[in-house]
Amino acid sequence: MQALWTCPKCGRAFANRNQFHFCSNVRLEDHFAGRDPQVVATFNNLLEAAKKSGPVKVLPEKTRIAFQVRMSFAAFSLRRHWVDGHVVLARRLESPRFRRIDVISPRNQVHVFRLHEPSEVDEEVERWLREAYSVGEQQHLKPRVQ
Ligand SMILES: [Zn+2]
Repeated sequence: MQALWTCPKCGRAFANRNQFHFCSNVRLEDHFAGRDPQVVATFNNLLEAAKKSGPVKVLPEKTRIAFQVRMSFAAFSLRRHWVDGHVVLARRLESPRFRRIDVISPRNQVHVFRLHEPSEVDEEVERWLREAYSVGEQQHLKPRVQ
């Protein structure tokens, strides 16, 4: 495992040197302002579910809140009445709850979903987050032949 690279401007750490990102001083509370209480509760449930896999870095950016281990593995945009989010998985996972699956590469597939209620953060969503967390740890790179 190579050391993480820390952006000198915003202090965020990344697996890849000079990783493209938007430096930001946005606070988490800024994302909560003007949102329905169930939207904030839904986000909090997502964070609690993600933390079941281990420590999570919460990175408030301009338009979204990213969850990161070594790499970002999920991100959420809080709207007034719902949460738009995605998990990054190293494979295609079928679920009627995914609105879209963007294939960045075979090992980087962005599964997009929308939640309205905290109760929607159920066992299935927990499984997505657990799998995405292990991708964020770059576990899929471990058995490396080189
Ligand atoms: Zn930065």
